[in-house]
Amino acid sequence: MEIYFDNSATTCVSAKAADAALRAMREDFGNPSSVHGKGAAAFHALNEARSTFAKYLNVASQEIYFTSCGTESNNIVLQGVAKARGKGAKILVSAIEHPSVYEPTRYLLSSGYDVSYIPVNQEGIIQLDALEKMADHDTALVSIMHVNNETGAIQPLRSAGDIIKSVAPQAIFHIDAVQSFGRLPLDFAGWKADAASMSGHKIHAPKGVGLLWLKKGVNIPALILGGGQEYGFRSGTENMSSILAFTAAVEECYSDMDSNYAAMQKVKDTLWENLQRLIPSCTINGPLDDRAAAHIVNISFPGIRSEVMLHSLEAKGIFVSAGSACTAKSSKGSRILTAMGLDDARIDSALRFSFSRYNTVEEAVYVASAAADVVNEISGFMNFTKRKQRR
Ligand code: PLP
Repeated sequence: MEIYFDNSATTCVSAKAADAALRAMREDFGNPSSVHGKGAAAFHALNEARSTFAKYLNVASQEIYFTSCGTESNNIVLQGVAKARGKGAKILVSAIEHPSVYEPTRYLLSSGYDVSYIPVNQEGIIQLDALEKMADHDTALVSIMHVNNETGAIQPLRSAGDIIKSVAPQAIFHIDAVQSFGRLPLDFAGWKADAASMSGHKIHAPKGVGLLWLKKGVNIPALILGGGQEYGFRSGTENMSSILAFTAAVEECYSDMDSNYAAMQKVKDTLWENLQRLIPSCTINGPLDDRAAAHIVNISFPGIRSEVMLHSLEAKGIFVSAGSACTAKSSKGSRILTAMGLDDARIDSALRFSFSRYNTVEEAVYVASAAADVVNEISGFMNFTKRKQRR
């Protein structure tokens, strides 16, 4: 048996997305830039794909740019704004951003740019009063994620947008929506947002395709120059198979978003209820109410290191994560949980469980009981060792 509770790292490709990719690779494989019929068909398919995303995001299709991943979309915004506005401009990002935002800010800091981090509270939600104090007329960019990839905390983007547009009217407001797109509705107009990043492989499309929404009039220079694809903004022959798979995947997500979300909420609630009953010492890292996304939950099992728990669960066929997949191989404790001010015991024993529409309540029951078995085995072993040492 295999239970995959690591959907924030990546998801399986849906059958419809895989079919779309295969068709684009084997049959409709034209280059959208070619002037013959096969090229024209690919160009038409690309335009249709763009319109599909535009419809779901409620934006103009000319504002949609396909990229290679969420990381690229984030880099275009961070590095592009820095390039356009120069070193005098201030950049603000939340303290809990994904490495694909955080690392570009570290690079910009080391190159002499003025970057500051908006603090979060113990639940991992940004402090709006701090944002209000930090943003001003010199602020060029504010970047805040929608759903945090480690805790599932949903950020108050509407209030953040109101603050940004009143105290920093020149600033571009960018949202990293990689962990929410396709699972929660996005409301760019309500948030007063100017740009947003999304990624295919988190929503059952293949890896290697992403999207950047840039509101008309937002001035960010192109970083990749060449044949002028994507309205001249992002050159390179379009990754048609992945773009069309991404389009099929997003159609599926949007056609059942509410019921998928409710189903994932049930999986999460079942997991948490069972864990609390079986392992009373475990704690949730993040909000406990509707500011927590249904598809991600971060739980600490005090006394058991994350990697030990992760591999013990893996031995039982259960796949989870000890943090974000991109930093999971680093030995440092989570930067996100540290920014939340959690103590080391909680940080060192934290695991992320993340769900997709393919997970079931029965799986959650099984995972909770497997986790309890691991805790009992390890505590039994530790007590035995302590008794032996005392002898
Ligand atoms: N932003 C967030 C919040 C993420 O969770 C991730 C991936 O885990 C990314 C950006 C990067 O996306 P990609 O893997 O498509 O580069």
